[in-house]
Amino acid sequence: MSQVEENQVAPVVDENAPSKAALKKAAKEAEKAQKKAEIAKKQAETQPVYVPPKLTLEQMKDAKFGDMPLHQSQPEFTSDNQFTDIKLLTPGPVKIRAYLHNVRATGKSAFTILRQRQFTLQAVFFGEKDMIKYINSVPKESYVEVEGIYKASEQPINSCSISGFELEITRFFAITRAVSMLPLQVEDAARPDSAFEVKDTVFVKPGRDTRFDNRILDLRTPANQSIFKVRMAIQQSFMKFLIEKNFMQITSPKIISGSSEGGADIFSLQYFGQPACLAQSPQLYKQMSIAAGFQRVFEIGPVFRAEKSHTHRHLCEFTGMDIEVEVFQHYHEVLVILDQLMKFIFKNTLETCQEEIDFIRKQFDLKMPPTIEWTEETVIVDFRDGAKWLQEAGYKQSEVEDLNTENERALGKIVKEKFHTDFYILDKFPGSIRPFYTMPDVDDNRFSNSYDMFIRGEEICSGAQRIHDPEYLKERIVAKGINPDTLKDYIDAFRYGCPPHAGAGLGLERIVMLMLGIEDCRQCCLFPRTPERLTP
Ligand code: ATP
Ligand code: MG
Repeated sequence: MSQVEENQVAPVVDENAPSKAALKKAAKEAEKAQKKAEIAKKQAETQPVYVPPKLTLEQMKDAKFGDMPLHQSQPEFTSDNQFTDIKLLTPGPVKIRAYLHNVRATGKSAFTILRQRQFTLQAVFFGEKDMIKYINSVPKESYVEVEGIYKASEQPINSCSISGFELEITRFFAITRAVSMLPLQVEDAARPDSAFEVKDTVFVKPGRDTRFDNRILDLRTPANQSIFKVRMAIQQSFMKFLIEKNFMQITSPKIISGSSEGGADIFSLQYFGQPACLAQSPQLYKQMSIAAGFQRVFEIGPVFRAEKSHTHRHLCEFTGMDIEVEVFQHYHEVLVILDQLMKFIFKNTLETCQEEIDFIRKQFDLKMPPTIEWTEETVIVDFRDGAKWLQEAGYKQSEVEDLNTENERALGKIVKEKFHTDFYILDKFPGSIRPFYTMPDVDDNRFSNSYDMFIRGEEICSGAQRIHDPEYLKERIVAKGINPDTLKDYIDAFRYGCPPHAGAGLGLERIVMLMLGIEDCRQCCLFPRTPERLTP
């Protein structure tokens, strides 16, 4: 027996032991509970439990309702899909598969709501009691196959996204049943915050951890389905714009030797006995691609940061959207590209995702600010001017120190008041707060050819002109206190001739969050990774 186990069985004198009276009371209550359970058991025995019909493949042909068999392959494969997407239904007989969003039955009818992605449709059945009983036995969130007649509804159905039509059910099958006690009700997860803020409300707001612990259910809400459509639109706009501008898409390695760009925020790992880590950004490799003659590159990929930050804008794994380009005369060439790129993303996303944005607004209702404003000619603020404006407004801000979150927000407000824009660029950051590869400003080397972009006063992007001379690069690395041996391959990349270049790294989750005005970037990430969360 181990020491621990021995300790556990050692006699202990417990001063807080219950009194005799308390023990007697507890025994009485246990007896009561047992009696109650016996009565319930007897009742259950006399009332037969409903057993839904489980169909075989053969029975499926004629049955009107029942649970589908697991192996439902038809005898012959045809590429002709008989199922219609809920958004493409036309009046007449139809067949769809969907989640059972809601179900309720009376003696004569069953009312259901079917859901595909963010869209819901009412489906009703009037007829045989057996079938009503069956439909009512299927738990919410089960995946079902339904056949029926799609037709105009007599009255608008406000509880569904498709309000002018409904489905009159003729056949109804459960493909897979959800458990009946769901850890999270999709309807609750989809309710706007205002529904929980009403006095005496019966609704219980699901907590953030409950949502993320049960992300599969949480993701089924119309707003969440829509967020991921917007996210995709942003990525697609980013790619479309850059491809048209002759950029090359690259995929750089995510397992890298040593300690990435240095610093404490790295996830270390063992690579067959060699120290390695997950890339903190594609920085070094996108520059090496420029050295390899690619001229203009972009990448969309995972970025890993072991930051123990518990903020609304930090994840331990996020999606980076990066660019790097050759510059010819001035690093502002890249600012022109970034500016046009962001405006293309804004316009394209707002145009193509209007319906999704409406769904998102419905759930995040009052808390969401209106869509962002921007100016045709982008506002580029010099860091020194930004610092001066902050000082004038009463904030403590030096010319050569980084902005903290509060000042970043405050400067966003000042810029919005001055120029009526939620999007702007801050240029010429102090060199001391930027990474070793940043090109200093030739006129005043306290500053550098580096910039950040902001939406609603929060950083979405950092970028700079890079040092393309190997000896100068090495000097800067040493000056920053980093051992140049750990960056040998990177420095050597510039020994074979390299064009002057500049680039930028954008955070996708932050852009989604700030464009939409959502509170937390975790909501814009499929399965977020934070210091406390590695699952699901
Ligand atoms: P911050 O100061 O906000 O922590 P950063 O300056 O450390 O960000 P960069 O290294 O400049 O971040 O990364 C480029 C971009 O990647 C940022 O502008 C931001 O959009 C995004 N980003 C950085 N860190 C995170 C993170 N932990 N989670 C989500 N996005 C991030
Ligand atoms: Mg930054």
